[in-house]
This record gives sequence, C-alpha cells and structure tokens, in this order.
Amino acid sequence: MNHGKLQILLAFSSYLIFSAPFAALDLLGEKLPVMHQYKIQPDRQPTLAMMANSFFKALYNHVVFVLPSVVIGVFVLPALTLPLEAPTLYEVFVDGLAVLLLFDTQYYIWHFIHHKHSQLYRWVHATHHEYMAPFSWSTEQLSIPELMTVGLWSNQDPVLLKCHPLTTWFVTVFSIWMSVEDHIGYDLPWTLNHLVPFGLLGGAPAHDMHHQKPNSNYAPFFSHWDIIFGTKVPLKMNKRLLKTEKTS
Ligand SMILES: [Zn+2]
Ligand SMILES: [Zn+2]
Repeated sequence: MNHGKLQILLAFSSYLIFSAPFAALDLLGEKLPVMHQYKIQPDRQPTLAMMANSFFKALYNHVVFVLPSVVIGVFVLPALTLPLEAPTLYEVFVDGLAVLLLFDTQYYIWHFIHHKHSQLYRWVHATHHEYMAPFSWSTEQLSIPELMTVGLWSNQDPVLLKCHPLTTWFVTVFSIWMSVEDHIGYDLPWTLNHLVPFGLLGGAPAHDMHHQKPNSNYAPFFSHWDIIFGTKVPLKMNKRLLKTEKTS
C-alpha cells in the first residue's frame, strides 16, 4: 500500500467514524435533552434530507475525484517504506503541532481570500456555506477545488516538515477529528477547545459563528490569527432567545 492511499483511506474513514455519533445525536434532537441543551443553534435542527445531501456530496467527491487521483498515485508515487525507528511521543507531538499550525495558517489565508473575492466565494467556497447551522456531515461538504487544496496541504505539509509516517497518520486522523468538532453544532464541555487552556483552540463555538457570520473566525483550528487580525467574533448562543420564544 502506498503512503498517499493509506492517508486518504484514513482521512475518509475518520470522517465517517467521527461524524456518525453526532448524526445520531442530531436525529434524536430534543428527545435527548441532556445533549440537546448544548446545541448551539437549537432552532436550526438538521433534517435527514440535509444530512443525506452533505454526506452524498462528500462521498461523490471522494469516489469521483479523490479515488482516481489515488489510483494514479499508486503508479506514480513510490511504495511506502516505514523507517525502522518509531518516532518518540515528543516527536509526534512537536511535529504534529507544527503540521497543524502550518495548515491553520494556510487555510486562514485561503479562507480569508475566498470570503473577500465574490467570484472565488461563489465558485469555490459557497458550497461549504449552504447551511447556516453546521452539523457533523457538513464538515466535508466542499467543492472539488477546496477539497483538492486542503488535500494537497494535508499531504504535502508533513512531507515538507519531514514527519515520520506514523506522525503523519496520527496528525491526519487528529485533524479530521478537529474539523468534525468544528462542525458538530454543539458546544460540549469536553471538546478540545474546552480542554486546551487559554482559548487557544476555536472549536465548534468559533466555527459555528463563522457559519452564522461568515466574515469572522476564519482559522480552522487555532485562535491566534483571528485575534491578531481582529477577525475573532465570540459565539452568541441563541438558546435563551429560543426558550423565551417558546414560553411566550
Ligand atoms: Zn465550516
Ligand atoms: Zn467560510
């Protein structure tokens, strides 16, 4: 098996495995108040049709575009040779963090440009903004050019930073988890943005706000670029508003 093929297989199966439990949560909705209390936009519950739309768009992209490019890669790219030495935990952490920081910077710039240029937005990024309230399957509702761009960075950044293949696989799965967490639509108290201190990570509250107010929170993972460039907007929960509407 070649390196690229394994990485894409890992990425797509991680998207499926990580998204499925949150899709179940969305389908249960108000029937599970213990979880529904954390829904960021409770008045915008995704329907089964919306979920199917997002999921099949992601599946179509992978079958029609990603899979053929992987097949071509099998003939072009060298077969994977795993180094004899495994990386230390410290190496996995430092190299993995470097990959995430680099990707975060690349996507911040790309994302900012694609929101400022109306034609680029319309043809490349608008697909991802079909829904104002994200849900797990919508994580990979991307146009082909956007998927190819993030795919290229995900593949090339670890090569550029000379990561061990094990580090690359780990950071691939971890970054998919972070992307899914951005889109779950719930502000759960145990997600990474709450576990990592000082608000270093944006998580679902920041990215949900980006889908509500698209000229804010451009960074996919970390908060620093949005703070530095003044594009950080805190999440406003409309939970209370909904409750008062219901009772009145
Ligand atoms: Zn998004
Ligand atoms: Zn956007």
